[in-house]
Amino acid sequence: MEGILLAQKDVYDVIIIGSGPAGYTSALYAARANLKVIIIAGVTPGGQLMLTGQVENFPGFPEGIPGPELMERMKEQALKFGAEIIYDDAIDVDFSSSPYRVVTSSEEYLGHSIIIATGAAPRWLGLESEKRLIGRGVSSCATCDAPLFKDAENVVIVGGGDSAMEYALFTANIARKVTVIHRRDKLRASKIMQERAFSNPKITFVWNSTVTDILGEEKVRGVKVKNLLTGEESIIQCDAVFVAIGHKPSTDIFKNKIELDDEGYIITRDVVKTNVPGVFAAGDVHDKKYRQAITAAGFGCMAALEAIRYVEEVKSKAQHGQA
Ligand code: NAP
Repeated sequence: MEGILLAQKDVYDVIIIGSGPAGYTSALYAARANLKVIIIAGVTPGGQLMLTGQVENFPGFPEGIPGPELMERMKEQALKFGAEIIYDDAIDVDFSSSPYRVVTSSEEYLGHSIIIATGAAPRWLGLESEKRLIGRGVSSCATCDAPLFKDAENVVIVGGGDSAMEYALFTANIARKVTVIHRRDKLRASKIMQERAFSNPKITFVWNSTVTDILGEEKVRGVKVKNLLTGEESIIQCDAVFVAIGHKPSTDIFKNKIELDDEGYIITRDVVKTNVPGVFAAGDVHDKKYRQAITAAGFGCMAALEAIRYVEEVKSKAQHGQA
């Protein structure tokens, strides 16, 4: 009997993998519902907002808030209600039998329910200068950071997809000029986004070209561009560079464990449910459309409410001796 009790004590009600807005919000809701919750936050916690300067579009902060501070506050709020946190990466999962298993590099955790909030990482060009200037004019989120470049002389957008067009249109409302640099002579973006961008007089295009360097020491001053057809190099002056060359969902450890789409995003039904009962997805790991801190937090809330209901059912079945 004691052995059984000990084993039960070791099972978490909810294990949350990931520590962006979705992860912390789900932890807050689940812990506040008195569930035993652990956040596997990763060795670099906080998600994409840790790379964002000032967040001006998260409701409740009219004066704006630095991304890392917002994440620290979300974490504090979750921990206040009793969620535990460990700073380790999940390296494997086993959803084949309940309770589910999450393995980190140093431990193994059991949970009745799992919330996957591992997010998606923006793809980068891979330049040393790009890494150095992130948060100083280089960003992967124009919606987050373009307002910091009000009336800038020129802002460069790299990419030719819907994100790049959305960034260009959004930034054109803020900066004086926007230059889209794309590696081909055709956009990948949808027709309607293309038309909008082409008809905006503030947006110009540089075709068949890649950015080979980002110039500036303390902040962005310009980009070095290479024309892929002629090999010719030129410099375009600008105050910011928004890289929009796609995202990669962080789902490597879930391959063959839950349903993923061709791009690796988790496939959900009823918004946050995966194909495995009791395993939920929240935030950029399944949402390729909105990708905002506030929408991720919303998905985190929904996943937690579903997890709370699921755990109640599991416990009630166990109490009544059902499998
Ligand atoms: P995407 O459609 O994959 O486009 C990525 C773009 O970046 C492509 O034009 C690609 O060039 C370029 N690219 C990739 N790697 C590059 C590199 N190393 N150097 C330079 N350029 C590179 O990604 P996305 O625009 O983020 O869109 C992702 C999904 O979200 C899409 O399904 C999109 O429709 C959707 N989305 C929709 C909306 C909307 O409807 N408002 C907004 C945003 C996103 P190539 O074209 O040559 O491959």
